[in-house]
Amino acid sequence: QVHNNGNSKYSDKIPKIKFTKLFINGEFVDSVSGKTFETIDPRTEEVIANIAEGDKEDVDLAVKAAREAFDHGPWPRMSGSERGRIMMKFLQLVEENIEELAALDSLDAGKLFELGKAAEIPFAFSVLRYYAGAADKIHGKTLRMANQLQGHTLHEPVGVVGHIIPWNFPIGMFLMKTSPALAAGCTMLVKPAEQSPLSALYLAHLAKLAGIPDGVINVVTGFGETAGAAISSHMDIDCVSFTGSTEVGRVVMQAAATSNLKAVSLELGGKAPLIVFDDVDVDSTINIALKGGFANKGEYCVCSSRILVQEGIYDEFVTKFALYAKGMIVGDPFDPSTHQGPQVDKQQYEKVLSYIEHGKRQGATLLTGGKPCGEKGYYIEPTIFSDVTVVYTFAYVTHICCISSTLLCTNNHVYVFVCLQDDMLIATDEIFGPVVSVIKFKTIEEAIAKANSTCYGLAAGIATNDLNIANTVSRSLRAGIIWINCYLAFDASCPYGGYKMSGFGREFGMEGLYKYLQVKSVVTPLHNS
Ligand code: ADP
Repeated sequence: QVHNNGNSKYSDKIPKIKFTKLFINGEFVDSVSGKTFETIDPRTEEVIANIAEGDKEDVDLAVKAAREAFDHGPWPRMSGSERGRIMMKFLQLVEENIEELAALDSLDAGKLFELGKAAEIPFAFSVLRYYAGAADKIHGKTLRMANQLQGHTLHEPVGVVGHIIPWNFPIGMFLMKTSPALAAGCTMLVKPAEQSPLSALYLAHLAKLAGIPDGVINVVTGFGETAGAAISSHMDIDCVSFTGSTEVGRVVMQAAATSNLKAVSLELGGKAPLIVFDDVDVDSTINIALKGGFANKGEYCVCSSRILVQEGIYDEFVTKFALYAKGMIVGDPFDPSTHQGPQVDKQQYEKVLSYIEHGKRQGATLLTGGKPCGEKGYYIEPTIFSDVTVVYTFAYVTHICCISSTLLCTNNHVYVFVCLQDDMLIATDEIFGPVVSVIKFKTIEEAIAKANSTCYGLAAGIATNDLNIANTVSRSLRAGIIWINCYLAFDASCPYGGYKMSGFGREFGMEGLYKYLQVKSVVTPLHNS
C-alpha cells in the first residue's frame, strides 16, 4: 500500500470555495444567529472553510420561502414538460461544472476524484435526467364506478419537502432527493450533512442559474440536532425524506409523528451480505467482493460488509481476498492511483477503529489491515476478518434483531426478535468503514438464515452460476435490492430502498417519484337522476 495524504502535488485540483452561506429564497444569506461551523478536510484534518450554521429560525425562513413558492409560485403550476425543460437546463449546468463539483466532494468528504468524475457523479446526473424526463409523465386514472358515477384521479405534488441527507455521496444524495421532488412540482429545503456542505451550496447556485424559481430549492447547512431536528418537527413541512443512520431515522420519524404527521421516507443503515457459492470462479468473485466491501471506503449503506462463503472454497477465497485487499492503495483522493481515500471525519475514523478492536477481542481472525495509516488524515487500512461467527436460527424466526428481545404479533406472523449477545459485533453492526467480515456456511438454508440474521435489509449479493440457487436465494432474502453476480449496479430506473430496519420508501424509478405526489379523487355522477 502506498500512502500519500494531503499531498501538495494536488493543490492545483483544490477548488476555490465560493459558497459558504445558507441559500434561502434564491439568495446566499448568513444564518440568523451569525454563527458558523468549520468544515474539515479529512486528508489533512485542516479547516477548509467556515460555513453558515443554520438553526430553527433559518429553517423557518427556508420553509416560509418554500411555502410561498409552493402556494403562489410558478413551479407547481407549470406544465410537467416545462419543469422538465428547466431541469434539463440544470443538468446541462451540472455537467459543465463536473470538475469543480467532483473536487468539492473529494475535498470535503475524501471521495475519489477520478471515480467521482467518471462514474459516481455521472450516475447522479442520470438520475436528474431520468426525472426531468418523467416530469411530463405524471398522470392519474379515469374510473367507471358503481351507482352511475365516474371518477378521475389527480396526482398532485405533496407540498414542501424537507430533505435531510448524509455525507457519503453529497452530490449524489442532493440530486437523488431533489430531482423526483422537482419533477413532482414540490418545493423544498435540503439540509446537507455538517461534514460535507460544500457541493450542496454550489448545486443550489447552479439550480438558480438554470431558472429554477426562487424558493423552490433552499439549502440550510447546519447540524442534525438543531437544523435537522427543526425540519423533522416543523409544522409546515409536508414530507421529510431522510437518508442516514437507523438511529437518527427513528428520531426523525418520531418528530414527524409528534408534530404534524408529515409523510416520511427513510433510507437507513445496512449490513449487506454477499453470498458466494462454491461453484463460482473465485478470482472474478473477489473483484465483486472488493468492490462491494470497500467502495467509498466502506462508507456506503449497501456495502457488502458480510461476505458469506460456502465451505468448499472458503480457504481459497479468504487467502486470495486478503491478498487482493493488501494490494489496494490508500491515499490522497485526488491521486488517480488511489483506491481508497480517508474516512470522512474523526468521529467515523474512531468508530471504525473501535469496531476493529471489537473484532480482535471477540476472536475473529484479522486477515489483513486493522490499523490506521499515514501521519495525518483519517486513513484506515482495508481490513478483513475471517472466522466471524453469527448466531442464527431457522425455526419461526422471521426477523432477528440485534437490538432488543421482543415478541411482536401481527395478523398472521409471529416475529421473534432475539438478542444476539453472542454475535460478534462486526457481524451485526453497520460499521460504515473499510471492514469486511467473512463468514463460512455449508448449505443454502444456512446461507439464507445467516444472510437474513441482522436487523437490516437494504441490499444483498449472490455469486453463483446456478440459476436455481440464484432465483431461490434472491426470493428468500429480505432486502430491497439483490445483485446476482454483480454489485453496486444501480440505475436511475431501478427502485431501491430498505426492508426491515433499513427503512421504507424507494429512491429511483417511478416509485421514487410517487412519494412526492399525493392522489386526489374527483367523482361526478354520469347523469342527473
Ligand atoms: P451518519 O451516521 O451517516 O452520519 P446521520 O444519521 O448521523 O448519518 O446523519 C444523516 C443526516 O441526518 C445528517 O444531515 C445529519 O445532520 C442529520 N441528523 C443527525 N441528527 C439528526 C436529528 N436528530 N434530527 C434530524 N436530522 C439529524
